[in-house]
Amino acid sequence: MNVLKFGGTSVGSAENIERVISILEKSAINSKVIGVVSAIGGITDLLLSAGELAQTKDKGYLECFDTIRNIHLEMLSSLLGSKNTALLCNLEAELQSLKDFLDGIYLINELSAKTSDKLVSFGELLSSYIIAETMKSRGINAERKNSQDLIVTNSVFSKAEVKYAKTNENVTNYFKHAEEAITILPGFISKSENGEITTLGRGGSDFTAAIVAAALNVEKLEIWTDVSGMFTTNPKAVKHAFPIENLSYQEAMELSHFGAKVIYPPTVQPVLDKNIPIFIKNTMAPEDIGTKISSSSAMASGKNINPVKGISNVNNINLLTLQGNGMVGIPGFSKRLFETLAQNKINVIFITQASSEHSICFGVEAGDSNLAKESIDETFENEISLRKIDPLIVEKELSIIALVGDKMKSHQGISGKMFSTLGKNNINIRAIAQGASEKNISAVIAEKDVKKALNTLHERFFETPTKQLNVYITGVGNVGERLVEQIKQQKGYLKEQLKLNLKVVGLSNSRTMVLDASGINLTNWKDKLKNGQKASSKGFLESARSYNLRNSIFVDVTANAEIAASYPEYLKESIAVVACNKIACSSNFDTYNQLKSLSRKYNAPFLFETNVGAGLPVIDTLNNLVASGDKITSIQAVLSGSLNYIFNNFNDKTRFHDIVKKAQIEGYTEPDPRIDLSGVDVARKILILARESGIEMNLEDIDNQSFLTPENEQANTVEAFYDSLIEHEDHFQSLYNSAKNNNAQLKYVADFNGIKAQVGLQEIPEGHPFYNLEGKDNIVMYYTKRYPEQPMIIKGAGAGAEVTASGLFADIIRTLNK
Ligand code: ADP
Ligand code: ASP
Ligand code: MG
Repeated sequence: MNVLKFGGTSVGSAENIERVISILEKSAINSKVIGVVSAIGGITDLLLSAGELAQTKDKGYLECFDTIRNIHLEMLSSLLGSKNTALLCNLEAELQSLKDFLDGIYLINELSAKTSDKLVSFGELLSSYIIAETMKSRGINAERKNSQDLIVTNSVFSKAEVKYAKTNENVTNYFKHAEEAITILPGFISKSENGEITTLGRGGSDFTAAIVAAALNVEKLEIWTDVSGMFTTNPKAVKHAFPIENLSYQEAMELSHFGAKVIYPPTVQPVLDKNIPIFIKNTMAPEDIGTKISSSSAMASGKNINPVKGISNVNNINLLTLQGNGMVGIPGFSKRLFETLAQNKINVIFITQASSEHSICFGVEAGDSNLAKESIDETFENEISLRKIDPLIVEKELSIIALVGDKMKSHQGISGKMFSTLGKNNINIRAIAQGASEKNISAVIAEKDVKKALNTLHERFFETPTKQLNVYITGVGNVGERLVEQIKQQKGYLKEQLKLNLKVVGLSNSRTMVLDASGINLTNWKDKLKNGQKASSKGFLESARSYNLRNSIFVDVTANAEIAASYPEYLKESIAVVACNKIACSSNFDTYNQLKSLSRKYNAPFLFETNVGAGLPVIDTLNNLVASGDKITSIQAVLSGSLNYIFNNFNDKTRFHDIVKKAQIEGYTEPDPRIDLSGVDVARKILILARESGIEMNLEDIDNQSFLTPENEQANTVEAFYDSLIEHEDHFQSLYNSAKNNNAQLKYVADFNGIKAQVGLQEIPEGHPFYNLEGKDNIVMYYTKRYPEQPMIIKGAGAGAEVTASGLFADIIRTLNK
């Protein structure tokens, strides 16, 4: 005898019922078969909604009923054609009695648990009727048997307990004499000893199948559903989840208790007692291996050395805490607490107690929380009034996530890995429990963090080594565009070679923005951005916050002060910040310091390599020197690509004004060239290097020896500034001539002597490393304790969109190693 159970989706359409029939027929070739079926997918919920509406005198129940009626009639007609009038009539009659029943609820305004059980029983009765009749009319040797005649329970409606002795007797007696090759049984429904209709709890069709399989002591139980087995975690929440080939009964029970809905938890017990293996199979893909649940799974899975078998979650949890100084050392508090809960039939899902005994913390379903609070506060009324105990504390909108595996107990460090992975992703853990058997490590977290937690934990325990990076780029102008193009081009390489899955999830310029938590397809990103929603830095931040994705990075490619001011908000969400915007790091020291400490506190890297020398590894090198114990004694540098370009091209045959204009047109200067020519840009850069060397310094502390005339400096528009350059051409020519006469080159140099910094134009003599600096190159010389005479030199293009973008890209990748 084979027992196969088919769930709601498996019988949810005519097409799927055809699959079910063919699976049953195949199974019946060598042995008799029992097919246990659920209600058509969604019908149990619809019946319950109709009942609720009718009870509250809402005529909407009639609409609900019509939906239920149409689904069943259409199902039968698509399976058998509308000509089969006798069956259609029978089905109509059965639907009419459902309608009468709902009318009754509407009239009396009442829906007791008992009535509700009778109401939902229609679901399985209707589905089993349709399936059995379809088979019969096709000449298949099949019959339906109403399982209410077989499965006997107590009278706890909606989740009745099985009376095994009577049930087993009924089942064995019936099947001893059953002649048909295939018997269809409605799942989920049963009858009490007094003859009342009962049900076995939501998802209970699995249980029906297990009860029958155990009573008949069959070789195996097959649960046919809409996924190819029990997955490492809920496949609807984690794309990379995969089916587990073998599980022990205990592992399956733990996983299902903690939310792996694929089997109803009580299902395991009856078959475990008889050592009957369960196979989870996919009706939509019968050839897939699926999952085998048995006692010997630990051995069979020997090749799989991962001690963690699966991760599951239960949502809708409230955490209740009973605490107070009066509890310490006094026996009996827990007894009274749990007795109160038991008397009120409140199921406790999770318990922890600190060894100080100062508090007991436990989790219940959200629906039970009010009753728990009322009854416990009442039980401890006296102690509360004496202030020995505080009123029960209730925390809402929580979930439990659990790692499950029989072999976790023999491996060290699993909980450490679990909690550090969650911590790194800013997922706050509210409570922890680990059974002494160590088959399960559970943590309570905010419900909003569940998806992120499942994904990070799955990545950590099952997906080594691919990592996902989620990038939000704001300021898609010249440099930003190059960055997006570089990412687009490198995506494949990163995935293949570095096992990095880099997704751009947000793009914004000053006009529009696009956001997509699953990643923006970069093929035509410019159009998407153009047609995106109106840009808003607040909206951008809000989306990043609500997506709550792991390994997120906010990339600032603007020069905007408002955006720089938003970094703390990102860091507080554990979102890394990568910036080429210099404002944050060069504004007052407190801001810089606050960002550094937020970055440490929230484990979110804050990187700004491109603030100095574009793509050159200037800051990273400095950080490495300092981290390895070296000390910076001085820094000399040419840090302005624009000024270098200008002084390399300016001579006695050109006009200073024209060269500056050209530099601006070529994009080598800031849009406002005064920022470069006044030395402010270079001062900011040396300030950042001094700060990264460990010195507390502000922009005002830097000695800025301007080479401009006072009139140049006083020009208050760009236009006026250009005019003043023409007027003062003589001044610039004299700077040039003096250098030429001294056989020197004009370079704009930044200098930090370990305490103070200055910037200014210098005449660089022949032979000096700066003398031959070409084009828009930058050069930085670090003198340190380890490099006292021959400095460490970094040199190369220090401006330009392509190199700046690649510097940002390097920082994005670097966030992973910080
Ligand atoms: P059926 O109607 O066949 O009884 P269920 O909806 O009760 O099916 O259970 C199957 C569903 O369980 C899957 O579609 C999936 O969304 C969910 N699920 C949750 N956790 C897991 C898991 N770890 N493995 C497989 N499925 C899971
Ligand atoms: N139809 C019932 C439910 O939806 C039982 C089941 O499908 O297992 O809960
Ligand atoms: Mg189910």
